[in-house]
Amino acid sequence: MDIKEKIDGLVEQLINYQKAYYVDGKPLVSDMEYDRLFDELARLEKENPSLVRPDSPTVRVGSDLSNDFPEVEHTIPVLSLDKAYSKDEVLSFIDKCIRKETSSLTFVAEEKIDGISMVLYYEDGILSRAVTRGNGTVGNDVTANIKTIKSIPLSLPEKIDIAVRGEVFLKKKDFEIINSREEDEDKRAANPRNLAAGTVRRQKSEETARIPLDMFIYEGFWSNKDLTPKDHLHILKKLKDLGFKINTHMSFFAHDRKEAENALKQSGLEGKAFAFSEMADYIAFKTGERKSLEWEIDGLVFKINELETRERFGYTEHHPRWAIAYKFESPQAVSKLLGITVQVGRTGRITPVAELSPVPLGGSVIRRATLHNQEYIESLELAIGDTVSIAKRGDVIPAVEDVIEKNEEGNTTYEIPLICPSCGSTLKKDGAHLFCQNRECPEQVKGLLSFFASRNQMDIETLGPKTIELFYQKGVLRRIEDIYSADYHALVGMPGIGEKTVQQIIRSVEESKTRPFKTVLSSLGISELGKKSAEMLISGGFDSINKLRSAKEEDLIKIPGIGERTAKIIVDAFKDGILLSTIDKLSSYGLHMSQDEDEKEDKLEQTLSGTVWCVTGSFVHFNPRSKALEEIEKRGGRTVSSVTGKTTHLLAGSGGGSKRAEAEKLGIEIVDESAFLVMLGIEADRKEVEKDSQLELF
Ligand code: AMP
Ligand code: ZN
Repeated sequence: MDIKEKIDGLVEQLINYQKAYYVDGKPLVSDMEYDRLFDELARLEKENPSLVRPDSPTVRVGSDLSNDFPEVEHTIPVLSLDKAYSKDEVLSFIDKCIRKETSSLTFVAEEKIDGISMVLYYEDGILSRAVTRGNGTVGNDVTANIKTIKSIPLSLPEKIDIAVRGEVFLKKKDFEIINSREEDEDKRAANPRNLAAGTVRRQKSEETARIPLDMFIYEGFWSNKDLTPKDHLHILKKLKDLGFKINTHMSFFAHDRKEAENALKQSGLEGKAFAFSEMADYIAFKTGERKSLEWEIDGLVFKINELETRERFGYTEHHPRWAIAYKFESPQAVSKLLGITVQVGRTGRITPVAELSPVPLGGSVIRRATLHNQEYIESLELAIGDTVSIAKRGDVIPAVEDVIEKNEEGNTTYEIPLICPSCGSTLKKDGAHLFCQNRECPEQVKGLLSFFASRNQMDIETLGPKTIELFYQKGVLRRIEDIYSADYHALVGMPGIGEKTVQQIIRSVEESKTRPFKTVLSSLGISELGKKSAEMLISGGFDSINKLRSAKEEDLIKIPGIGERTAKIIVDAFKDGILLSTIDKLSSYGLHMSQDEDEKEDKLEQTLSGTVWCVTGSFVHFNPRSKALEEIEKRGGRTVSSVTGKTTHLLAGSGGGSKRAEAEKLGIEIVDESAFLVMLGIEADRKEVEKDSQLELF
C-alpha cells in the first residue's frame, strides 16, 4: 500500500469514528485506539506534507498561527427572526398563516439555541468558509477556528455546493467547568454564549480547539435548487445524511396528531408529533423543561414546513414571514445604540460604554450601559445604530443584553480603536480585554490616585475623585507619593477648596500613614495584588516590601492561592522603576512597608494600664466610636459597656445621656474628647476639636 492510500484510509476511518462519537453519540472504538490511529496519521502527514487532506481530522487540533477575522460578504441573506413574547402571539401567528394559505400547512418547532449564529459554506463538498452572521450581509471569516469543532464535517459525502446555517454553542456543564478553571475573575464569561463567542474569535485556533464547542445545523441552502428537498423535515433529514448534527429535540405540528406522526415517521427523523390544538401546552412544557436541558435555549422557533408556501409568504428586509421566534423573556428595555465611548481604568484596562437613546428602566432613565470589552461586543456582533435590549438583571449597572434589530445603515460590528482615548498610545490585547500600557496615561494615573485614597484602601477621606481630578489638572498630584508631599495650603481658593477642607485633607493624609502594611501593599495598584493576595503573600512569609522586591516566581508559587500567572505579574511589577521609586518615597514619608512596622505601632506605651473606661456620646475624631475603644485597649486600658463601681473613667462625647449622670453620682472621672486626645498624645487634633465644640455653642 502506498503512503497516499494509507493516509486516505486513516482519514476515512478517523472521520467515521469522529462522526460516530461527536454527531451520533455512539462511539465505535476506545479513546486509546482512536488516539493511536490519530498519532499515526499525524506522523505520516508530517513526513508527507503534500498529502495532507483539507478534511483531515488533524486539522481540528488547530494551529498557533495568528488569525485575523476578515470581513466577507455572505452569498445567502442571513436574516433574523420575527419575535413573539407570549403564547398568544405565537398562536395568532400560526392562525394567520393557516388562514392565509389555501392548502394545508404543517409547522416545525425547534429550540432556539442561545449560541452564536454561523454560516458554513461548502464548495464541492469541502468546508471552505465559516462566517459569523455580522450584519446579515457582511460577517467575519472564522474558518480556522470553526474547523476545530469536532461535530462539523470538514467534507461531505456529496461533492455539492451548499451553505448551512446553525448555532455554535457550549454545553452548560462544559461552561461551568471551563469558567471555574479561569484564575482571573475578570476573565470569566457571564454565560455559555459569551464564552462560545470569545472562543470562536480566539487568535490561535489551537486555543479554540481546547474548548468543546458544538454546533447544531437548522437550515440548508443548495446552490443547485433542484437538489433542495420539498419541506423542512426533509431538509433536516438530508442535512443529517450529509453528516451534520441536528438537534433531535424537534417537534412537528399538523392539523391532527395522527397526520403529524405519519409525516414525521416518513421523514425518518427523531422528534415529537402534535396537533395544532396542543401548541399552547407544548410551549408551556418546553418553558418548564428549559432549565434541565444540556444547552441554553432562549426560546422556540416555529417555522412553516412547506418550502413552496415559504416562498409565497416571502421575506421582509429583516426576517422571513414564515417563521416566528417565541422568546421566554421579554426585554426589560429597548433602546438604540447611538455611539460607543471608551473608558480607561486604573490598570489601563479599556471598557467600552454604550451611549443609548434615553430609556426608563427600573425607576431611572438609562443613557449609558456597559459593554464589558471587545469580546462582548463581538459576541453580540453589535454595531452603531442597532436596536438593543438593556437589562439590569441582578446587577446595579445596566448592560446591553442583545441586538433586537440590526441598523439600516449597513454598519458592521464595532471595533474599539486601538488608540488610548486618554493618552493616544497604542492599545494591547490581553485575554478578553484591551489595555493602555502607558503608565503615565492621565486617566490611569487619576484612577490609581482615586483607588489609593478610596475608602476600602488608604481611606483618605477628603481626597475623592473630583478633588483628585482638580489637583491632577493643577499638576499638584501626578503620582501616589505626591499625596504626602503636596503643599495643600497653597490650594486654598480653588473651586470648592476652603481652609477647612485643606485642614481635613492634611489630617486624613497624616492619619493614613498608620495603615497596616497589608493595606499599603494592596493600594499600590499592582494588578493581581488586591487585599486577598496581599494577605496570602504576607502569611506566606513575604511580610515586607523588601522581601517582595527580591521574590522569585518559583518562591511565590509555593504560597497557597498564588498561581503561576499571579506570581509572574507580581515579580514583573517589582521590576518597574516608577513603582519602586513610589515605594521608596512612601517609605520615607513613614508609610508601613513591613509587618514589623505595623507591630511597632501597635506596641504603644501602656499609659492606660489599670484603667477601666466606659464611653458615651459621639465624637469628631473617633467615628465610629469603636475607634476610641481601640485606642484605649492599645494602651493597656480596659473597656466596659456600662458605668459601675469598677469604672475609672467615662469618655464623654457630645450628646451622652444617663451614663454621664451615673458617673457623676459615683464620682468617676469624666474625660471629654479634647482631654482624651491630649491623654493619647495626639496634640495636633486638640485645637480642631475645640474649634468644633465652640462652634456648637453658638
Ligand atoms: P435573534 O438573534 O434574536 O434575532 O434570533 C434569530 C437567531 O436565532 C438566528 O440568527 C439564530 O442564530 C438563532 N437560532 C437559534 N436556534 C435557531 C433555530 N432552531 N432556528 C432558527 N434560528 C435559530
Ligand atoms: Zn492611555
